[in-house]
Amino acid sequence: MESSDAHSGVKNNKPDSNGVSTSLDVPSLSDRCAQGFKECLVKFNLDEIDNYPNTVYGLWSDSTLAYTNKAWFTFMQENSGEIVGDPSQFLGKKILKSFPDQLKPFYQELFSKALAQDPSESLAPVQHAYECSSPEYYRQYSMALYPLEQQQGVLVVNSLVVMQSHKETAQPIENIYRDGDGIIHQCAHCRKVRCTDDSQRWDLVPAWIKSIPPNASHDLCLPCFEYYYPKN
Ligand SMILES: [Zn+2]
Repeated sequence: MESSDAHSGVKNNKPDSNGVSTSLDVPSLSDRCAQGFKECLVKFNLDEIDNYPNTVYGLWSDSTLAYTNKAWFTFMQENSGEIVGDPSQFLGKKILKSFPDQLKPFYQELFSKALAQDPSESLAPVQHAYECSSPEYYRQYSMALYPLEQQQGVLVVNSLVVMQSHKETAQPIENIYRDGDGIIHQCAHCRKVRCTDDSQRWDLVPAWIKSIPPNASHDLCLPCFEYYYPKN
């Protein structure tokens, strides 16, 4: 995934004169919620969702963004989400554009599965556990996808379930990880990088979670591939 400047278009992200970080400029609700979407949230309290500490977003049935809560916006800014490149333009964007290519088929199917559920039945939401680690912490999230009335869209609620310091980490020494063609292979999910002298070994290089050197490609390591695309 190409990353854009995480802070583009954000004015108040620098410490003030007292060294205290000021809050990010989160767009107002009317700029984060497409017309008509609030009416689809029959079973949800928009005020609660908007102030939820983890990320929540709404999708129309064609998987374009219809709503993002405050935490989503802040998270994307802090984690270099490319979709926030132009904060005034993010509504209506295809959400899958922000996912690595290797994971797009999985998420397309997940969104379709959630959309097809009958919201009038009190079924458990479609759920998916995933990693989204930072350079400092291993983080695991749970995604719950709730279908909206009349298959108009899906509400996606993410919750942080595990956050701990990384256990085994490696140094960003490029000649260990660049293959014969000079490419670094990073897993699109767990973000580990493949060792060139042992293609079965993938190491976590925290420095490259934040920013990977040039000539890197996104793959899936075997455990992640088997997790996302299990053989039936
Ligand atoms: Zn992986």
